[in-house]
Amino acid sequence: MTQQIVIIGAGECGGRAALSLRDRGFEGSITLIGSEPLAPYERPPLSKDAILFAAEPKFVAEVDGFASLAIDLRLGVSAAHIDRSRRVVSLSDGTFVPYDKLLLATGARPRALPAMTSLNGRVRTLRSHADAMDIRSCLGPGQRVAIIGGGFIGLELAASARKLGTSVTLIEGLPRILSRGVPAEIAAAVASRHRAEGVEILCDARIDKVEQTEDGVQVLLEDGSRIRADLVVVGIGSTPNTELAAEAGLAIDNGIAVDSHLQTSDPDIYAAGDCCSFPAAHYGGRHIRLESWRSAQEQGLLAAANMMGAQESGAAVPWFWSDQYDLTLQVAGLAEGATATVRRDLAAEAFILFHLAGDGRLLAASGIGPGNTISRDIRLAEMLIASAKTIDAAALAAPATKLKALLAA
Ligand SMILES: Cc1cc2nc3c(=O)[nH]c(=O)nc-3n(C[C@H](O)[C@H](O)[C@H](O)COP(=O)(O)OP(=O)(O)OC[C@H]3O[C@@H](n4cnc5c(N)ncnc54)[C@H](O)[C@@H]3O)c2cc1C
Repeated sequence: MTQQIVIIGAGECGGRAALSLRDRGFEGSITLIGSEPLAPYERPPLSKDAILFAAEPKFVAEVDGFASLAIDLRLGVSAAHIDRSRRVVSLSDGTFVPYDKLLLATGARPRALPAMTSLNGRVRTLRSHADAMDIRSCLGPGQRVAIIGGGFIGLELAASARKLGTSVTLIEGLPRILSRGVPAEIAAAVASRHRAEGVEILCDARIDKVEQTEDGVQVLLEDGSRIRADLVVVGIGSTPNTELAAEAGLAIDNGIAVDSHLQTSDPDIYAAGDCCSFPAAHYGGRHIRLESWRSAQEQGLLAAANMMGAQESGAAVPWFWSDQYDLTLQVAGLAEGATATVRRDLAAEAFILFHLAGDGRLLAASGIGPGNTISRDIRLAEMLIASAKTIDAAALAAPATKLKALLAA
């Protein structure tokens, strides 16, 4: 019988899992171990409101909230080793915590540049609230930031930095920004908005080195050009935190490998959130790893249910959003393998691309638009993807077609 549950990683996923265990009536002990000093908080505001307004962390629940549910929240301490034979986790403070079921929710960390640490704090990454506050302190009128990497975090930071009056250069090594998971047409709309807001975007720009100067830092490109800045922020993707799992002998496959129940190769150990790779329902069970706020939440809840014996399988359609200026971009599903793409125009600056498989099933939908212009249709697209129905591409493209009607058909 499960009496003791230990969760390693007090982020979005670990925090939600702990709360959900109590919500579902688990009466045994819950220990939630987090290496950061703060109670679990949401990361999406870090590149948005935290930079813009120095917003306080948005907590999943406050320390008192966990205490009132008798969840033993241990902050500022890391899990150092898992002894699977004795079912004990040893912590960096020298203590040990026994478990019947263990959840790994260790998240991911930003990839770094090789020489970053020697650059006097002028080259940073953005993952924690402390990172956001440090970066924010270097932004504003008269300040120059160079952002390396044209992915979501780099672009969101570029938008926030511009709003604060900072001069922004974004350096992308590939021919276009957002080349991972976002269609070129949407990436072009994002790039053109950034340029209109004054961001200088350099594509196909390969970095030779980043070095300190007397008054700041400079990025030297292979073509000989140099970008001078007061701060460089590196946003070149993330690495899942799998070391603890690997050292414990668990299977790793671009993340801690889990099955549809989020169970690792050890049936008493689960993994969820950014750190795990899981079989994607609706996509033939191929293993994927997501870095998505909603997925971290959903998987936290699923892991909690399954640690209590539910045996439920994950069935969510992958979904991600990004806010830049007044634009919201959303991607639902996985477009790989699509043989046709149709465009649906919704309003000025708002459109959705639907990606269809050869047999007419909807695989993915990606859209961009001001405010929540695209939200309803993307939500319905998620349901169409999950339904695996054959859909008429022309009907999808026609703005007059109600997607709800396609779902009901
Ligand atoms: C700046 C930023 C903006 C984002 N914006 C969006 C967005 O707009 N939309 C969206 O969908 N997603 C967004 N995301 C992604 C989303 O926040 C993540 O997918 C989500 O936080 C993942 O949750 P997690 O709990 O799996 O991992 P995390 O939130 O990273 O939490 C993992 C925690 O585990 C801790 N930990 C790791 N190893 C150990 C150990 N050995 N012992 C103890 N603790 C450990 C870590 O310190 C961390 O606190 C953003 C992320 C960032 C960084």
